[in-house]
Amino acid sequence: MENGNGLKIMEKNGLSLNLKLQNGTKVDNGTHWCFRGNKELDTPPEITIRGVLGMLKDSLDPSDPRPTIPLGHGDPSYFPCFRTAEVAEKSIADALHSANFNCYAPTAGLPSARRAVAEHLSADLPYKLIADDVFITVGCTQAIEVALCALARPGANILLPRPGFPIYEARAVYSHLEIRFFDLLPEKGWDVDLNAIEALADENTVAMVIINPGNPCGNVFTYEHLEKVAETARKLGILVISDEVYDHITFGSKPFVPMGVFASIVPVLTLGSISKRWIVPGWRIGWLATNDPNGILKKTRVVDCIKGYLNISVDPTTFNQGALPHILEKTKEDFFQNIINTLEHTSEICYQKLKEIDCITCPHKAEGSMFVMVKLNLGLLEDIKDDMDFCFKLAKEESVIVLPGIVVGLKNWLRISFAIDPCSLEDALGRIKVFCQRHSKQK
Ligand SMILES: *Cc1c(COP(=O)(O)O)cnc(C)c1O
Repeated sequence: MENGNGLKIMEKNGLSLNLKLQNGTKVDNGTHWCFRGNKELDTPPEITIRGVLGMLKDSLDPSDPRPTIPLGHGDPSYFPCFRTAEVAEKSIADALHSANFNCYAPTAGLPSARRAVAEHLSADLPYKLIADDVFITVGCTQAIEVALCALARPGANILLPRPGFPIYEARAVYSHLEIRFFDLLPEKGWDVDLNAIEALADENTVAMVIINPGNPCGNVFTYEHLEKVAETARKLGILVISDEVYDHITFGSKPFVPMGVFASIVPVLTLGSISKRWIVPGWRIGWLATNDPNGILKKTRVVDCIKGYLNISVDPTTFNQGALPHILEKTKEDFFQNIINTLEHTSEICYQKLKEIDCITCPHKAEGSMFVMVKLNLGLLEDIKDDMDFCFKLAKEESVIVLPGIVVGLKNWLRISFAIDPCSLEDALGRIKVFCQRHSKQK
């Protein structure tokens, strides 16, 4: 790097050390290439759900004639019993054929899509959101990215749940937000450890994240608990990021309550998408909504930063945005009820069948989302080192894929997805039982 300016920029970013290493590296033909991959992105696959699931798939035994049963995934779209609503498919086709949506959309999203999401979310709120409160994103994943990038500043930290959803961690690291984990408590139905929140936070804490209904725990927070979360966050002066990508997917005794209900206590960023409720994660339509009746997010310029970030990032395809109002307004209750009935049934199968397996305990039956967290009792197993080892051997010997808990922050636990047809689920749980018996210690 001969250019003096370039060198200065690199030093400013703390990369001068890399540069020296690079210059000391002999490369082909004597050329010193001045570039290299961004080390911050050069992460091992073990830290992402998809990375680990890919590795587990690679360890399957191709000579096993039985079908592989995936219980690690969060995408049931390829099972016929989880096909999306016909009206949703038609909305997309109509939007495409109308030729009204071949254009770029505004960076915050099509006004009609923003308005439709505002109305959709307002149905469960004590006040009305307007189109300006909603930003259309590339799935909930981009909503996470936008929220964290809008809040990141030097020295800031964010409170994340453990177990949790690894994208938050990865995104926080990449945005240079320090991460502090608070526990979800299995013995309390995976409620937030509110005392821990108060102990963890300081004047540099900007936000806490909750996921409700929960991934990976399948828990649902009560109105009372969410109110306490709001009061705790207010006391600490932090905002709440509420990931509601599984909104309304509940089948226990607790109804879904959006965090936005408490926005007069504390400002809330609600993140969501149609990926899970409509079972179309490939359509890449999500949103971020500012629930802020007191205008705090405007005063603190968080809203401007959200807009600023969206101005420099990609948008979801315009025809999908064009279809969104119809998808939200025209999908019949029957469709949702069918999906919920299926999940209620499969979560029950999961709970009952797991009871028959000695080395696995389920501290809290799933009441929402598509997952349950269960604990491995390694003391009962002969030759299984940890949750990773369990999952790799299970994949190899039984062609069943389950996510090791370590990936979501809990070592020696497992996350089991029950969003799969009931017969395959029973088959898989039977294989897990046989696997555990084969590996159990002789008494
Ligand atoms: C699936 C998931 C997301 C990502 O949603 P997309 O709309 O597919 O981007 C975000 N948060 C949680 C908790 C999820 O399970």
